[in-house]
Amino acid sequence: MNFLSTFVTFENLHEVRRLCHWGPVIALSVIAICSTMAILDSIIWYWPLDTTGGSINFIMLINWTVLILYNYFNAMFVGPGYIPLGWKPENHQDAQYLQYCRVCQGYKAPRSHHCRKCNRCVMKMDHHCPWINNCCGHLNHAYFTSFLLLAPLGCSHAAIIFIMTMYTQLYERISFGWSTVKIDMSAVRQFQPLMPFSVPAFAATLFALGLALGTTIAVGMLFFIQMKVILRNKTSIESWIEEKAKDRIQHYQTGEEFIFPYDLGTRWLNFKQVFTWSGTPKGDGIEWPVHPKCHQHTLTIEQLKQKADKRVRSVQYRAVEDYNGACCPLSKGLQTFFRTPCTEEPRIPLSKGDTILATRGTKWWMYGDKVLSEEQMRAGERVRGWFPRRCVEKCHYDTAASDSTSEKKKD
Ligand SMILES: [Zn+2]
Ligand SMILES: [Zn+2]
Repeated sequence: MNFLSTFVTFENLHEVRRLCHWGPVIALSVIAICSTMAILDSIIWYWPLDTTGGSINFIMLINWTVLILYNYFNAMFVGPGYIPLGWKPENHQDAQYLQYCRVCQGYKAPRSHHCRKCNRCVMKMDHHCPWINNCCGHLNHAYFTSFLLLAPLGCSHAAIIFIMTMYTQLYERISFGWSTVKIDMSAVRQFQPLMPFSVPAFAATLFALGLALGTTIAVGMLFFIQMKVILRNKTSIESWIEEKAKDRIQHYQTGEEFIFPYDLGTRWLNFKQVFTWSGTPKGDGIEWPVHPKCHQHTLTIEQLKQKADKRVRSVQYRAVEDYNGACCPLSKGLQTFFRTPCTEEPRIPLSKGDTILATRGTKWWMYGDKVLSEEQMRAGERVRGWFPRRCVEKCHYDTAASDSTSEKKKD
């Protein structure tokens, strides 16, 4: 029993429920299909095990699968690390610099945010990833990013095997006539495979090739995004806070200089914060090393200022292009297509002239509330979700703030 519990922590066993969700089901199916097909194609048709190259190829395929699954399950089950429920800063005075989470009944430690899906405050939260059905944050950032690197590498290897299998199996069999394509299944082979490369085998290989190529492109893009986050030590949420900070300072002309506190200066230093030999990132997820000109609460104080400043809480945008609400719109450019946010949150259709109050965003997408007509407001409607950044244009701060300024004048 002791032996078993060293491998499985039983308190984490309830985490197995994370597997019951479309994200992990699809992700694990893709991994299973690509690795099984690559191994079958290799040993039966393309590179039999009785050759040295074939054996090395086989070991490499097994290696990819093990490494990918290891990092995937760790990203899912280790999780991002949650702030303890009811958490208070050690020094009670510091509470004034922190936001309070009513759900977790505790203060939000620096860099943590409340995730509605996980229903907890998450350490150094980057985003909630449906593919691992968990948040990507402090403790699993390295596992998550390693997975994003290994999956495209493994899939590229598999894709080469699929292409070579189909090429070598069909090359000597296909002959092109004037208006016909003949496939001669009895053509002489260099080596006799265990079984003939049948039509179902061909179809399965072609299907697996599609999955492998799609995964390589989509997951490869995500890897570069996460590497940027790690090398700058700035999560996607923090990038947005920084953007709003600059907006706020520029508007009020406060003369403050906003320095992002967690960037340690060099990419290598930032990298070593997340990737360590032990697999556990540096730090306890609550206190962070900061820029010499900053302190522990530089960012949380900025967040409080932004919260107090209702006008900056959202930035006003105006739609300059129509958008139909598609998850991956084809007509809005390749980057918008591929970098669609990995969340289950809705997309909102826009028509030219609509006004949107954006609360966060990425380089290619934004999230916010559509400003509705009074009738719709009275009916309690609310249209909130993602839309492509290129469909909107930032309104000048003065026009965005005009409503609240006029209110002030009345006061
Ligand atoms: Zn919370
Ligand atoms: Zn989450």
